[in-house]
Amino acid sequence: MKFYKSKYIISSGEKIFEDCILVVQDGKVFDIVRNDKVPENTEVIDFGNAVITPGFVNLHTHLQYTDLKPVFKHNLDSCHCERSEAIHLINDDPNMDFSDWIISLMKQYFFWSEAKKIKSFKNGLREAILSGCTCIVQLSREEYFIDILKILDLKSFVFLETFSNSEENSKKEIEKLKKQIKENSSKNVIIGISPHSIYNVHSSLWEEIARFSVEENILVHTHLAESQDETNWLNNKPSGIDKIHKLVKWDNLKPYESGLNPVEYLEKLGFLKLCGENLTAAHCIELDEKSLEKLVNYDAGIAYCPRSNILLHKKNLDYNKLPQSICENTGIGTDSRFSNYDLSILNEARWIKNSTGLDFKKLLDMLTINSARILKIDDKTGSLEKGKDADFLVFNLSPSVILSKAKDLYQDILNKEKPEEIYIKGTQIAKSGKFTAEQWKFLNEPQ
Ligand SMILES: [Zn+2]
Repeated sequence: MKFYKSKYIISSGEKIFEDCILVVQDGKVFDIVRNDKVPENTEVIDFGNAVITPGFVNLHTHLQYTDLKPVFKHNLDSCHCERSEAIHLINDDPNMDFSDWIISLMKQYFFWSEAKKIKSFKNGLREAILSGCTCIVQLSREEYFIDILKILDLKSFVFLETFSNSEENSKKEIEKLKKQIKENSSKNVIIGISPHSIYNVHSSLWEEIARFSVEENILVHTHLAESQDETNWLNNKPSGIDKIHKLVKWDNLKPYESGLNPVEYLEKLGFLKLCGENLTAAHCIELDEKSLEKLVNYDAGIAYCPRSNILLHKKNLDYNKLPQSICENTGIGTDSRFSNYDLSILNEARWIKNSTGLDFKKLLDMLTINSARILKIDDKTGSLEKGKDADFLVFNLSPSVILSKAKDLYQDILNKEKPEEIYIKGTQIAKSGKFTAEQWKFLNEPQ
């Protein structure tokens, strides 16, 4: 057994313990007990004036795009720490729209070698984990990223990206996906499917994926209602999507029925009824409250990527106004570095707090348990409860923080650049911004 003492322990968004000890056995949370309940002469690791929190989840990212030449100017005032208002995000090229951004991404990434993609992925992985993630959701097409994640004792999900413009293509894609999932299954990585978006996936592939998802209980992750372009495409109106389709010679891909909104489009296909509970929809900024409610009533989850939404679309969901049922089904993602300034989940959370004032408890739930529930691993992680894996972070606290003001405690966490220590299944993997566990050390140097 191991004993970790800390001034405060946040076991979940609402439960804060003071002067207690986190007891870990076989990598799992055994108990949280008061200081004086520990037998004498027990070896206790004392973090001092610190707080232990559950590990965070990054619910939507594409780590392979980390080294792409950025298109957004980094406003230094907006990124770091205590003094930051963090609301000034700047698009370097005001004329660049969403489709230009996608095309710019495709044109850069397409010409990269496998080695360069792997290097970029590893750089992203380092940044994402050191910001406090003990679980990540990665979206990509390449199998070699799975091989990197397989050797790490991390909770990782890889959603294999798929695209299709015809029935014939859909058949090929689903066969390929089935094979990839079978061949790459491993205890450390859960593989799901990511039909890229409504406008890049033929309706027949959506149907195939729905059947497969139900049969094999496979999770599905898509970009949904992210842009006005998508809405226009669904209504057969001129749209930036046409530019993308033209580039890849996909002029024949049209909505199976026009005039539906993105949720209705998946609903009418039968997708939501069949496997809504397996679905995570990223962005959703073009949906009104009624459509969001419909989505979560089908038990789908939402990946909220606020900085990406602002940079690309100047728009966000307002979680201060949305009903609790929608908040509870939402987790936070950074998206890729190509539509963000960095991959820090902590910077993402600070940005949300500073620019929307969202309640701390809601915010912490979105960083932890909500995503764990969406990924169906809330029995293993997402909070520090008995029997769950001991995935936790340690933040050093400023001397002035006292529990009588819980909000000061939460704010102090958000003011940090990174957690001081990161533990996964009770093993320390990083300290002071460096990986300490052997299996992680290869990520210490920038690639
Ligand atoms: Zn994305």
